[in-house]
Amino acid sequence: VQGPESRWAWVEVNLAALRRNTSAFRRLLGRGVEMMCVVKADAYGHGAVPCIKTMHAAGASQFAVATVREGVALREAGIEWPILILSEPPATCVQTLVEHDLMPAVYTSEFALALGEAAASAGRVARYHLAVDTGMTRIGVRRADAVELRRTIDFHRGLECAGTFTHFATADVPDDWDFALQLNRFRETVEALRGAGLDTGLVHCDNTPGTILHPECHFDMCRVGVGLYGLHPADTTHGCIDLEPVMSVRGRVVRVIYPNVGDGVGYGLTWRVPRRNIQVATVPIGYADGLARELSNQMDVLVGGVRCRQVGNICMDQFMFAVDVNGARSYRPTRPVEYGDVVTLIGADDDERITAEEMAGLRNTINYEVVCDFGMRLEKIYT
Ligand code: PLP
Repeated sequence: VQGPESRWAWVEVNLAALRRNTSAFRRLLGRGVEMMCVVKADAYGHGAVPCIKTMHAAGASQFAVATVREGVALREAGIEWPILILSEPPATCVQTLVEHDLMPAVYTSEFALALGEAAASAGRVARYHLAVDTGMTRIGVRRADAVELRRTIDFHRGLECAGTFTHFATADVPDDWDFALQLNRFRETVEALRGAGLDTGLVHCDNTPGTILHPECHFDMCRVGVGLYGLHPADTTHGCIDLEPVMSVRGRVVRVIYPNVGDGVGYGLTWRVPRRNIQVATVPIGYADGLARELSNQMDVLVGGVRCRQVGNICMDQFMFAVDVNGARSYRPTRPVEYGDVVTLIGADDDERITAEEMAGLRNTINYEVVCDFGMRLEKIYT
């Protein structure tokens, strides 16, 4: 891969790995269980449209986003498969939802009735999924109010319940009491709705860790996100399924010099050249591209399969790294770095690899945030 022509910085998205990951999840699901791929935040930074096409070819039947804008963008790009919006948007969006056949999560009667009105006046039926809060305390109707909410809105001819779902807060923790409590409450809610003669539509609750660790709650559909992109949601899922990271982040050296001993690097001159024969190279990737500034002077990059230390404060659009051509400890490049050399921030280079988890650890966050951040501005190249 040569990189884009306009800027020596890019995200590489390995669609073959995405396809294999999707197939691996598809094999975990029973025959009648649908697979909903979570592609919010532009497919966790990987670019939603090419990812969706790959996922669908590998057995996914439905997709989920976080916002109305994300859903509309997918419809405008020609994606016609079912799309769930995982939250209840403001009621001002109801016409847009109907027009683009997007299914929102629903948990208030005000929103649901506005949606029903919009559907009726367009001569259509709006499909929605009932969101149930079973213990995460984020969104959804509480178990005790679910039947009443459905009764309040169900008289509306413009509405059809296409699904009933909840979201687990601790699906990655084995044998967890809170998980069991959430699952119990969800089961009770579904039974109460059915007992009241209400159609639940597709029942779903498992995210990636749930899909892997809790096959007993696959129900009618699983909502798989991070695992599709080859990332484990937690240590507890390692060894349970083979996943390949889909994203690599790379740039090229746009400038390299041998500075003088004592020269400072970057804003605030937070790193100074300690010895002779140290190269300092610049790469056009910065915090506006998702390379968090708190990684400054903390992270490594790979050049020619060798780790080099990033030095100086990360800038908005660029960062610098140092190459000790004399070979200090593990940092031993076989030759000096040159203008145009490929630099890897995330991904493999020869036998070395920097993972999203490594970068997340340095940032005190999770791999989810690392890949989402790199989706912001860098051009994507699909391989
Ligand atoms: N379902 C809901 C409601 C979510 O908010 C998310 C993502 O956070 C997912 C499913 C997918 O989660 P994961 O990426 O862990 O599979």
